[in-house]
Amino acid sequence: MTDCRGRATVKTPAAARTGQRFPVLSAAACALTLIVGGATAAVASPAALTGVERAETAIDREYERLGGTDSGLGRPAGAETCGLRDGGCYRSYEHGGIVWSPATGAQPSWGAIRDAWAAHSFENGPLGYPVAGPACSDGICSQNFQRGTISWRPAAPATADLDIDNPENTAVVVNKERPLNPEDYAPEDLLSVDGQLLRAETAEALKLMQEAAAADGVTVRAISGYRPFETQSALYSGYTSQYGQEQADAISARPGYSEHQTGLAVDIAAADGACSLQACFADTPAGVWAAENAHRFGFIVRYPAGSSAVTGYAYEPWHLRYVGVDLAQAVHASGIGTLEEYFRLPAAPGYPAQ
Ligand SMILES: [Zn+2]
Repeated sequence: MTDCRGRATVKTPAAARTGQRFPVLSAAACALTLIVGGATAAVASPAALTGVERAETAIDREYERLGGTDSGLGRPAGAETCGLRDGGCYRSYEHGGIVWSPATGAQPSWGAIRDAWAAHSFENGPLGYPVAGPACSDGICSQNFQRGTISWRPAAPATADLDIDNPENTAVVVNKERPLNPEDYAPEDLLSVDGQLLRAETAEALKLMQEAAAADGVTVRAISGYRPFETQSALYSGYTSQYGQEQADAISARPGYSEHQTGLAVDIAAADGACSLQACFADTPAGVWAAENAHRFGFIVRYPAGSSAVTGYAYEPWHLRYVGVDLAQAVHASGIGTLEEYFRLPAAPGYPAQ
């Protein structure tokens, strides 16, 4: 266990720039950092309360649990505000905030970890909401979020470990600006659906989706799944030598930049193959059914109509990307069509200049 008082004079680079003392490093706040999780407020009869009342109660209870005005958060610095993504609410304090959402409960946020969270657009960014309070041990403080972790040690900037950067994670974002890391990544848990390989979780979700579609009288067939780096390399270099790079980029993803290399993407088709890999697939029963229901099984239509300036791809109503049920439902409910916009990432209309 770290002696936090020993670090009380340490300033983060950000705090040093603004001349502010880093608030978390008071003795009281330090005690606060040693509490791990357990912050979700229990309300006696939640059903009797509205969402806002529930949030207020949960935030107040969390603030009291942390020590109220004696906590590192200091005094309240504003009224509670709701209307955040996914039904969230927050309250600001002198040195940080407490943020609540139905899925994550009330969690505190302060200091360098909060600065790093802010730099990633708070709950609107790729990290989502905190799922626990910050915890410190062996001189490193870290806080877990819905889709990643932020870690911080004294005298160093906080670093974020984002699920969207990790190809093993179903929230990974791959586009023309964000190659897979490593570029020759290959998943190890592939299963076959309709003769196409997909990561196990994706394959299971696709099978459930196919059963549900069949129950509605619609056949959804998988026609393309995992594509290995080597396959894409051979394809792309063939196109490049035949047509030149510009044309090759227009008709094929560069190796290491294709969602199909994650094992989380699947191209679907109708039973009769009508409009396969064409925009008119959207009007087939399979295309209509997928657009309306895919999110319930953890899939999104990754390249929506009118979004090529963001995604770098024309409308592909057949290209589904598995992101997990929670994220797919949230993206669907938000009305935001692309992962780039949902996570507030830069648009990726084309490859960086080489
Ligand atoms: Zn595809």
